[in-house]
Amino acid sequence: LPEIFIKAMPVLQTLESAGFEAYFVGGSVRDVLLHRHVHDVDITTSAYPEEVKKLFEKSIDTGIKHGTVTILYGGESYEITTFRTESGYQDFRRPDHVTFVQNLDEDLKRRDFTINALAMDTRGEIVDLFDGLKDLKNHIIRAVGNPEKRFHEDALRMMRAVRFMSQLEFKLEENTEQAIKDNHELLKKISVERIREEFVKMGLGSHSRQAFQIFLDTELSEDVPDFAGKKDLLEVYPKLQFSPTTESNLWALIIILLKVPDDQISKFMRDWKNSNAMTEKVERIIKMFDLIADHAPSDYELFEAGEEILINTIDIAHILGQPISSEALVDRYMALPIKKASELAIDGRFLIERGMRPGAKLGHTLNRIRELVVSSKIENNQEAIGQYLDNLE
Ligand code: ATP
Ligand code: MG
Repeated sequence: LPEIFIKAMPVLQTLESAGFEAYFVGGSVRDVLLHRHVHDVDITTSAYPEEVKKLFEKSIDTGIKHGTVTILYGGESYEITTFRTESGYQDFRRPDHVTFVQNLDEDLKRRDFTINALAMDTRGEIVDLFDGLKDLKNHIIRAVGNPEKRFHEDALRMMRAVRFMSQLEFKLEENTEQAIKDNHELLKKISVERIREEFVKMGLGSHSRQAFQIFLDTELSEDVPDFAGKKDLLEVYPKLQFSPTTESNLWALIIILLKVPDDQISKFMRDWKNSNAMTEKVERIIKMFDLIADHAPSDYELFEAGEEILINTIDIAHILGQPISSEALVDRYMALPIKKASELAIDGRFLIERGMRPGAKLGHTLNRIRELVVSSKIENNQEAIGQYLDNLE
């Protein structure tokens, strides 16, 4: 067992000693069996949230109405959720009510896919009600129970299916895939934030191009923001040279493939409920991408882009199979006298101390100096800059 489970074992044992059942469950069990990195350990138990809280010194009411408390133990935090079923699914979204139940079986039944419905006890034994182990072995994503019914309960599960395909490099079981084809329109009921989260995980998974093909084939792509009717443009994605490796590059790539006009990019990003920071980054990447396609960037243009934007832009060119001399660009960037505005040897105060008044002219002069330093026309020290200013007067 990996370290992370061994560290968490006393948490299960504490619950057991108090007379409750407790198991590791969901993604962590799946990932440990696949020898994948386990990033967090979820625990399911017969104890009610109030009972869980009494057993541990520190706890947080993460989602106490849904049965989840987070406890702190040995410097780690663990989400502990009471066995539950879900009822009252309305509008094909998450249920409004949960009902606590006394056995694990009911809890496993509510889970989305067989590979996510595995539990492990303190002895490392696996509870596998739906042949999840077999599906893990055969690399198959299969809905627990009737896929059609399960997607009607919560349509986000359809996006989760393609997301897990991409992350785990698995295939969709036939009936599960057919149910997505028949019900993709239900995705319209799901909040964009939840869709975005799964879409990004799909885009950044190691099999994102294969998963994207299924995302298109099942027509899920018709029911997400700004993708409807654009299948012919999106068909390029599965044929790309590589998959994107950053979230900003995923968005930049999609925007380039969809040929979103420059003045519509922020609307597109907003439609997907992206943050302003993400939108700004994506806009800068696309601007740099267009610039590089147009001409060899000047030193100052490289400086203005900055390292992160430059690297992302080069990645995009690679992904799209465009020939650019990326090493030369990176070498040139690395050789710049300064790489950030804060590295300039002077600031506005320096100019004011030399008798300049605050205002537009000062800003202009500062920009000019920065440009000259970046393009190696003045050395980046106060004497050289002072001399340049002397000569101006
Ligand atoms: P990740 O590695 O991304 O955390 P995960 O499988 O742990 O993957 P989570 O979204 O963290 O995914 O959910 C934890 C578990 O809760 C899942 O493994 C699954 O058993 C269950 N689950 C999550 N979302 C749903 C859903 N929409 N419908 C049914 N079960 C779900
Ligand atoms: Mg998880």
